[in-house]
Amino acid sequence: MITSTTTLVPDSPAAAYDAYRQAASAVFLAGTQGLKYRKEHYELAVDLSKAGLSYIEEEGDEIDIGAMTPLWQIKISPVIQKLAGGAVSRAISDIADKDIQRYGTLGGVISGKGAFSVLLPILLSLHVDVLLQDKGRMSLEDYLQCPPMGELVTGISIAREEVYTAYKAYRRPSRSSCHCPVGQ
Ligand SMILES: Cc1cc2nc3c(=O)[nH]c(=O)nc-3n(C[C@H](O)[C@H](O)[C@H](O)COP(=O)(O)OP(=O)(O)OC[C@H]3O[C@@H](n4cnc5c(N)ncnc54)[C@H](O)[C@@H]3O)c2cc1C
Repeated sequence: MITSTTTLVPDSPAAAYDAYRQAASAVFLAGTQGLKYRKEHYELAVDLSKAGLSYIEEEGDEIDIGAMTPLWQIKISPVIQKLAGGAVSRAISDIADKDIQRYGTLGGVISGKGAFSVLLPILLSLHVDVLLQDKGRMSLEDYLQCPPMGELVTGISIAREEVYTAYKAYRRPSRSSCHCPVGQ
């Protein structure tokens, strides 16, 4: 797990981003499911748990999801289950590590830009904008291609539209975990 000299628990995204930008080295604490495997030391850890970023809201023709919303909560949300034939909920169910489902957050997945993510391809097939503190919004596709900019992801907006989906996740087994007899 990472360590830090100081930890702050700001009560707004603006305060969180301000503190993060002013520190010589800083990290956001979200669900800590990625950070628990890392060993770096930071001057400041900015705990986002009280920054008001956990929500799922219907706003006109968009659905807004806050960055600190845990993945399990997105998975069971009736609003999300109705969206795109439930593909987003099913993608979260396919995350093999149950701790990631339980504690991992949307912001952690989006900012991680993981090529192995089962959730990002589904979101890329919808119209999704990433909301950034002090930097406005940009399409998820553009955001994923940007180099890290030290940004705070505050959430995403998904366009509510009639789409038809077919969904299948396939993870290629690693050599060590494949026990298939040769030739089958
Ligand atoms: C074993 C394992 C399996 C995984 N499998 C999958 C998978 O199948 N599918 C998938 O999608 N992902 C997978 N992941 C990646 C996983 O999504 C992330 O590691 C985790 O969800 C990060 O979310 P978190 O909330 O725990 O973030 P944290 O661990 O708290 O933070 C991780 C990093 O993200 C940054 N961060 C967090 N929130 C924000 C924010 N709002 N704005 C800017 N930066 C932020 C932090 O500064 C930190 O650098 C896997 C990870 C592991 C370790």
